[in-house]
Amino acid sequence: MIPSVVAAAAGNEFEQQPLPYAYNALEPYIDAMTMEIHYSKHAAAYAKNLADACVAEKVNPQTTSLETLMKNISKYSAKMRNNGGGHFNHEFFWKCMKPGTSTQPSGKLAAAINQSFGSFEAFKTAFADAGKNRFGSGWAWLVQTADGNLKIGSTPNQDNPLMDISDLKGTPLLGLDVWEHAYYLKYQNKRPDYINNWFNIVNWDFVGSQLK
Ligand code: MN
Repeated sequence: MIPSVVAAAAGNEFEQQPLPYAYNALEPYIDAMTMEIHYSKHAAAYAKNLADACVAEKVNPQTTSLETLMKNISKYSAKMRNNGGGHFNHEFFWKCMKPGTSTQPSGKLAAAINQSFGSFEAFKTAFADAGKNRFGSGWAWLVQTADGNLKIGSTPNQDNPLMDISDLKGTPLLGLDVWEHAYYLKYQNKRPDYINNWFNIVNWDFVGSQLK
């Protein structure tokens, strides 16, 4: 691969990528209008505002990875933190879902979940609780910590476990958006119903692929 192609690929992760499925593909669990507004308005705005912040704060997407930016986010503005996190989180979130009835984790991921949480059902309960109990807007996460173990937690606003300012730290394996914009049109105030239904569309193959 020639260097210019590598550089272009690195820069692209700062831009909004195509949604990997149609807006209506996650019905009936997430409705098409929610997906369209979420992707084309909310997530698009994070990507746009991240680009603006990168210009203002002299971050070069051709030479800096999004992950490196997250790991050094304390050195930048609140605008960079909110929109860099927002962009990373949404790009990750789209990949965590897939159309069709989801299966369960398998292989190494299933073993790691059983070892850390006792069973898949116990994991689901703990993960759902992390989302339900996140006050206000934020995210629930399954992460792999530096010692290799799995951990469940949540972050406020658009923070994520890669950020140096985050209490929850680790490699994100699975992320769930619990901002009202992710579910309010269909579920209104019933965040627990959204979370319980969301398990039907988790892309466990992607989650497993994030294990180190
Ligand atoms: Mn969102």
